[in-house]
Amino acid sequence: MNYNVSEVVSGIFCITQYVLKNCPTNCYVLRAEKYNYIIDTGFGSESSEILLRVTDEKKPIRVINTHFHWDHIWGNHVFKKEEIISSMKTAQYIDKYWDEMIELNKKYIRGKAEKFLPNVISEGEIKFSEDGVLIFPSQGHTKDGISVFYEREKILFVGDNIGDDEINIVPELETDNEAYMKALKKYLSMDPFLILSGHNSEKKIDFILKILERLKE
Ligand SMILES: [Zn+2]
Repeated sequence: MNYNVSEVVSGIFCITQYVLKNCPTNCYVLRAEKYNYIIDTGFGSESSEILLRVTDEKKPIRVINTHFHWDHIWGNHVFKKEEIISSMKTAQYIDKYWDEMIELNKKYIRGKAEKFLPNVISEGEIKFSEDGVLIFPSQGHTKDGISVFYEREKILFVGDNIGDDEINIVPELETDNEAYMKALKKYLSMDPFLILSGHNSEKKIDFILKILERLKE
């Protein structure tokens, strides 16, 4: 697989995988004080093995699935022994749509894809105070979406909840605009220094303002 690893800020790594045509896909490794946080697991075991190489081996691992879409979860099974965190709906949707997602997109599997559901699920926020990591519901792109805020550096990971490139700044929305705008306003209230997403390049807060403007048109 073609991929690139870059250190966004100290201790935060973006693993960009070039599998989909004209659409790079990002997973992240956040080396926090106590834990490694792996945000999304990509296209299968090959993605996960790359992510593992970027972790700090002295620290345990927590995995987070931002939403149920296949290009974010197919590497989950490599982390069977770790905590895999998601919303309740993400676990339900992975279970329900697994076969369909494989059938439609199997040519994009890298390594192996094996069904493995998140094992730490929550309807609301999860806070890991020891690392200053907050996980919270954020609908829009999907109904099951969650985002991750690393409070210490004010870095916000939004999954696919912003558009994929400079032209398509609004993502495909499964929810109504109102639910999506609620998530965007929550993002603004956190005043993030950087916004990291599943497909786009790193963004500043003005990108969220632009999306809000576009939604009002
Ligand atoms: Zn998605």
